[in-house]
Amino acid sequence: RTILRDLTEIMMKNPDISPSGTLAPADPTMFQKRYLKKMRDLGEGHFGKVTLYMYDPSNDGTGELVAVKALKQENSDVPDVWKKEIEILKSLYHSNIVRYKGCCTEPGRLEVQLIMEYLPLGSLREFLPKNKIGVPQCLMFAQQICQGMDYLHSQRYVHRDLAARNVLVENKGLVKIGDFGLTKYIPEGEIYYRVRETGDSPVYWYAIECLKEMKFSFASDVWSFGVTLYEIFTHCDSRQSPPTKFFEMMGLTEGSMTLVKIIELLERNRRLPCPRDCPHEVTLDTYNNTRLQKRTLKHIHSIGSQFIMSER
Ligand code: ADP
Ligand code: MG
Repeated sequence: RTILRDLTEIMMKNPDISPSGTLAPADPTMFQKRYLKKMRDLGEGHFGKVTLYMYDPSNDGTGELVAVKALKQENSDVPDVWKKEIEILKSLYHSNIVRYKGCCTEPGRLEVQLIMEYLPLGSLREFLPKNKIGVPQCLMFAQQICQGMDYLHSQRYVHRDLAARNVLVENKGLVKIGDFGLTKYIPEGEIYYRVRETGDSPVYWYAIECLKEMKFSFASDVWSFGVTLYEIFTHCDSRQSPPTKFFEMMGLTEGSMTLVKIIELLERNRRLPCPRDCPHEVTLDTYNNTRLQKRTLKHIHSIGSQFIMSER
């Protein structure tokens, strides 16, 4: 009996050596830093840096591949927003939203890393220029983005950063929405979220009311969806990217003048041009705000008039 008690005590003190299922079962969402082996960098945006790791507790190269997101060093003073991002992703379950796997913390350190599933083909920004996909596949991706966004909105979240760089590609038939770093909750009964912090905003993806009044709603996500659709149909060609096209329309500007000029352009009903390969139905229906919504994109609440094509 004493031996058993001693053994139990040893195992309690060393959860690592206790067989799973007995005593303290290991939490599968708690990843241990020492088993994470770095493979390569996957990408970075304004706030985070994402790296591919193999999680390999048995240390024989048979572990699973995971994408690990960490705050960039210079942003380490915004842990609250970072914790929110993790909490939000943790709460989302949808086949078109990147899957949360867990967290990794180091004993004695505040830093938290977000572990998510690894999508091998990267974001649409990497995938589309290399893979000349046809119209049906473009529309299928668009529809999947809509399904993910529809779910996100049903949970009363506005994404606020929907763009090709934040849509991840699992394979040729499946995309998922990622990057919930700017996502906000809209309480029941309210229709928009007004942001206080400005700074690095993806302004070329934003609707007029976001630029003018910093009001973000489900409808402003739909506007960003329109810009994302533009990116898909231009195959994320950098020479036609939204910033490039806006610079062409307004000339080079700096700082706060950029914002003023974009607002001016949009209020004069200037929009991104019609992508060359974009079927007439997509532009027309998006413009008319109706039929596309009922057919291909029936999941989205309304279609932003991003695609107003002046010349077509
Ligand atoms: P940020 O908040 O800094 O913009 P993101 O979450 O958008 O960070 O990730 C930055 C980039 O890393 C993405 O644009 C994409 O290229 C890559 N990436 C992010 N998550 C994954 C993932 N789960 N699998 C593969 N690549 C990813
Ligand atoms: Mg991003």
